[in-house]
Amino acid sequence: MDIMFKSTRGDRAKVTASQAIVKGIAEDGGLYVPESIPKIDFSLEDMLSFGYRELAYRVLRLVLTDYTEDELKYCINSAYDSKFDTSAIAPVAMAGNDNFLELFHGRTIAFKDMALSILPYLLKTAAKKNGVDEEIVILTATSGDTGKAALEGFAGVEGTQIIVFFPEDGVSAVQKAQMVTQTGKNTCVVGIKGNFDDAQTAVKKIFTDNELKAELKKRGYVFSSANSINIGRLAPQIVYYFYAYAQLVNSEKIKAGDKVNFTVPTGNFGDILAGYYAREMGLPVNKLICASNDNKVLYDFFKTGEYTIKDREFIVTVSPSMDILISSNLERLLYHESHSEEKTKAMMTSLGADGSYKFVIDDGFAGEYATVAETFEAIRYTFDKTHYVMDTHTAVAKASYDKYIAETGDKTPNVIVSTASPYKFAKDVLKAIDSEKYADIEPFEALYELEKVSGTPIPEPIKGIEKREILHKTVIERGELKKFVENKLR
Ligand SMILES: *Cc1c(COP(=O)(O)O)cnc(C)c1O
Repeated sequence: MDIMFKSTRGDRAKVTASQAIVKGIAEDGGLYVPESIPKIDFSLEDMLSFGYRELAYRVLRLVLTDYTEDELKYCINSAYDSKFDTSAIAPVAMAGNDNFLELFHGRTIAFKDMALSILPYLLKTAAKKNGVDEEIVILTATSGDTGKAALEGFAGVEGTQIIVFFPEDGVSAVQKAQMVTQTGKNTCVVGIKGNFDDAQTAVKKIFTDNELKAELKKRGYVFSSANSINIGRLAPQIVYYFYAYAQLVNSEKIKAGDKVNFTVPTGNFGDILAGYYAREMGLPVNKLICASNDNKVLYDFFKTGEYTIKDREFIVTVSPSMDILISSNLERLLYHESHSEEKTKAMMTSLGADGSYKFVIDDGFAGEYATVAETFEAIRYTFDKTHYVMDTHTAVAKASYDKYIAETGDKTPNVIVSTASPYKFAKDVLKAIDSEKYADIEPFEALYELEKVSGTPIPEPIKGIEKREILHKTVIERGELKKFVENKLR
């Protein structure tokens, strides 16, 4: 039986998985959710012998039910191949007493690769299945990680084009170098004289500009989104929760059936929501520990039952991919936990109008957060004790987990979800390890220094990046995005 998808906000139209992936977001502004969450039809023991691709197929076929076996296998095999620097794709590393699920072995060395390696194939297949003949144009505003992962995912994919807008002065040196050196005829990268919000707001406006959409449709183009509001980005992330569990059983840290916790460094709530789906599907998960940085809107929500952005300043931290106040995917959790489109819609309306809403999540989640100082501390003491080097986002999770243990004494085995390679944030990682020595280190010099300090080689994707040819030089005013898109798509 097909699993159908519907909006979190009450729009009654039901769509198939592939239609939800093409549309990205529901007509009423809600997010697509599965009408019912399927249960796994394989045993935890069977799972132990599956490789990543086999497991991905066994999980995704239950969620994306209107894709045929051939279609899904084509998407999975195209995505999870030698682009990843380990055949394990998502290995669990052990350091001291901690288990780190490393999701950074793809082409852009951050966890967005897990979903954005497969999304282009899911989308292209969906377009074909649903008779969409137009060229698909992916518009993305990025604060750094999503843009590059989407560029790599869509580069060279026939029938698609990708345009990425980034704040000219708002991304790290490595992130900018990764984007402006992107190859591929169908890629386009544009700097904005403005901040991330300017870019994001302008892109959202284009998505709802019906006149522009109609004109571009005449010219043979349709827009789509590579953000985590797209269910096609969320579903592939469920897989690695099962995969991590199987690795713990195989290394005899737990027995099949034992419960585990996952601690997840969270921004837009996409990653941790995939963990929630995994638990609902039958993975024995005790707590999902939601780790925030100084922008601790989610921590306060889990502690108090009130989500509020009122009187909250946006704080720039050393974990930029988690600097976020409106956590889009939480809407999906609210829907599943309230069992009500009306209530979900009312909460979202309240967030828009008053900047807050109330809802108590009973069980199954814990919220923690770490300040910048605590994040640096976690990098340093873990390095000192185990020689394991983690990035600033992963360190937010590690510090949060240690606080959680101090508060609860919970003995459940835990997995820390590791979302980026330390090389992506090398300068801050070095500063955490030795603040005096590395106070003024240059961003690219930091890569070579980290190689010496950590003893692990610079990942291939960013080796020599400072010497690569800059292929994208366009910079526009923040009011010019629409004009740019209109002119580009002639
Ligand atoms: C995107 C990102 C996160 C946050 O993930 P969400 O799904 O948005 O919660 C954490 N760490 C890194 C490195 C990221 O790129």
